[in-house]
Amino acid sequence: MSFYQPVGNEVELFTAAAGNGLPVLIKGPTGCGKTRFVRHMAEKLDRPVYTVACHDDLTASDLVGRHLIGPDGTYWQDGPLTRAVREGGICYLDEVVEARKDTTVVLHPLADDRRELPIERTGELLKAAPGFMLVVSYNPGYQSLLKGMKPSTRQRFVSMSFDYPEPEVEQVIVQKESGCSEALAGQLVSLAASLRNLKDHDLEEAASTRLLIHTAYLMASGVSPIEACRAGLIEPLSDDAVTVRALMEVVYALF
Ligand code: ADP
Repeated sequence: MSFYQPVGNEVELFTAAAGNGLPVLIKGPTGCGKTRFVRHMAEKLDRPVYTVACHDDLTASDLVGRHLIGPDGTYWQDGPLTRAVREGGICYLDEVVEARKDTTVVLHPLADDRRELPIERTGELLKAAPGFMLVVSYNPGYQSLLKGMKPSTRQRFVSMSFDYPEPEVEQVIVQKESGCSEALAGQLVSLAASLRNLKDHDLEEAASTRLLIHTAYLMASGVSPIEACRAGLIEPLSDDAVTVRALMEVVYALF
């Protein structure tokens, strides 16, 4: 089973939601473990998981399916949402607020007690198999007024907020994921804490757990600590040379 270090009561909450056929919404910054958590829970519940990274061109057909042309004429191909509905699996829509608005038409009847998927193109009305679960996530930090989730959508989901874990927990995650020493994991987590405390830089996102793990991997492959931090942690945070230089000062202070 893929490693997941619980941070709060998320495993219990998700299990209870799954047991009641309720959809789940996970909010949180990038790289804080949302995708890993969903994969872990799918394995634990022994359900297939279909993950869709949503983007602004993603339409309802991308989720539901479409007619394709083959050697013997046209045939219907299920999209990931339809497959999850038929098989009783988990459909995980990452960054759901990015998707086109027409997706709400298919998500709403699946996210309430109807648990139905109307397939307009084929005229089918699919009843979700018992294990089906809709899970969506988004990053409240990226939200614009235009892209927010409508209350009528949001209120269908059992919702939980994720954030970067407490230092002791994050240290365990970095160590276990990267295989680095406890001391190095501790150092990287302290570095992340210092970077996250820098309020005066206009960073879109803070240093994530994912970046700490990447940095540890680079070091394990023989890249010097300073260069590993630069490439694994600092450059991914900003494109602005002045900001990168300022953030590197924090690295020099710790490595
Ligand atoms: P998100 O989906 O929130 O952007 P991910 O789930 O992809 O982030 O997490 C990024 C990486 O961080 C994962 O691949 C994993 O290595 C690590 N990670 C973060 N949180 C945890 C956790 N609680 N347990 C195990 N690994 C974690």
